[in-house]
Amino acid sequence: DAARVVVVGGGPGGASAAKYLKLYEPNLEVTLIEPKRAYYTCFGGNWYLGGFRDLETLRHDYRALEYRHGVQVIHDKAIDLDAPGYQVKTENSGDISYDKLVVAPGIDFDYGDIEGLSSADVEAIPHAWEGGKQYAVLRSQLLEMEDGGTFILCAPPDPFRCPPGPYERASLVAHYLKENKPKSKILVLDEKDSFSKQGLFEEAWKELYGDMIEWVPAEEGGSLSRVSVSERKVFTDGGEQEHKGDVINVVPPQKAGRIAQQMGLTDADGWCPIDQVTFESKIHDDVYVIGDACVADPMPKSGHVANNHAKVVAVSIINSLMGREQMEPTTVNTCYSLAAPDWGFTVAHVFEHRDGEIHSVEGAGGLSPADESRGFRAREADFAPAWYAAITKDIFR
Ligand code: FAD
Repeated sequence: DAARVVVVGGGPGGASAAKYLKLYEPNLEVTLIEPKRAYYTCFGGNWYLGGFRDLETLRHDYRALEYRHGVQVIHDKAIDLDAPGYQVKTENSGDISYDKLVVAPGIDFDYGDIEGLSSADVEAIPHAWEGGKQYAVLRSQLLEMEDGGTFILCAPPDPFRCPPGPYERASLVAHYLKENKPKSKILVLDEKDSFSKQGLFEEAWKELYGDMIEWVPAEEGGSLSRVSVSERKVFTDGGEQEHKGDVINVVPPQKAGRIAQQMGLTDADGWCPIDQVTFESKIHDDVYVIGDACVADPMPKSGHVANNHAKVVAVSIINSLMGREQMEPTTVNTCYSLAAPDWGFTVAHVFEHRDGEIHSVEGAGGLSPADESRGFRAREADFAPAWYAAITKDIFR
């Protein structure tokens, strides 16, 4: 009998895993459980907020996985795990048996420490940190905002999905506002005192947007404590400072997707501990966790990383099923950020997976140089949509 691998979650992690399991070992029976018929990437979402990419171009369906790669796709939600019985429980499709299970549910939000805000407020105060609808909500609020208004973005504490994401968002909203509502302001209130690619972002902000963007680190009172949804106000610095916004985008603290918690795969911090070579859960045997939900430091939580995890887990599962020795793979992360449609920069890292841990390889990878020409920034900006086309093809087609 063919071994059966079940994958929960059809994002960059899960969809890539399902596809690569079939590519590497066509005899496997691979089942993907994903509630949505179409996946909207978060990556590229800031381009849409900036007004230069259509939301529908960020949409991907599962037809190629099904018809080209032979993955059985079940549009349903996993609701629990029977680890000793090797079964996943679903909302409408009964219990699904597996020999190996991959769990890739992405993130969930933790509103616990933010007084006055909950998941019920996402229409008024969107997070836009999951693809699709939330982006449309935030974009429509920006379109309705008057010239001279204030856009407030509250950036989350580490660890969170896409470390440069909030700052790319501030940049591209500034791009939109500069062209359409130039008297407006952007206030970034941060839980941190520094951020990813900070020097490159600050150089671009000064050059492109003058003083439109103000960034307030935690040590200067940026840390969020309370939100008044009805008054459109946020309170920081233990409630000492009050900020009125016309559009408010709170990106809450994060933890592993809810189903990972329900399946008992998370630790006290809310993330899923794994063996960082095989991606097998440290809690349940024959269950693997990949993508944003797992603890994979020093790798950041990115789509590119989730796609790399997927390829490693596919090999690791096949090796385990065949009784072969595990390999010690090398993986990469590349992350493009745009500060404007024609101003891009990158960070890249190479990682080695050995002795149950992930190690960043010194001297490999790197960051775009500072003080480069406009032509250099424009060339890097051109690579970003090319990266998008390549990675989404690798995940979904
Ligand atoms: P997800 O993409 O969250 O996918 C999880 C899937 O699991 C979802 O489809 C969900 O429906 C499904 N699921 C959840 N619960 C269940 C359940 N109970 N049963 C079944 N299915 C379930 N990354 C980059 O590499 N490059 C970038 O330039 C980049 N830019 C970004 C910009 C922004 C603004 C943001 C917010 C993110 C960006 N990212 C980028 C990060 C990237 O989006 C995430 O790291 C990536 O989506 C993680 O993939 P994942 O598969 O782990 O989780």
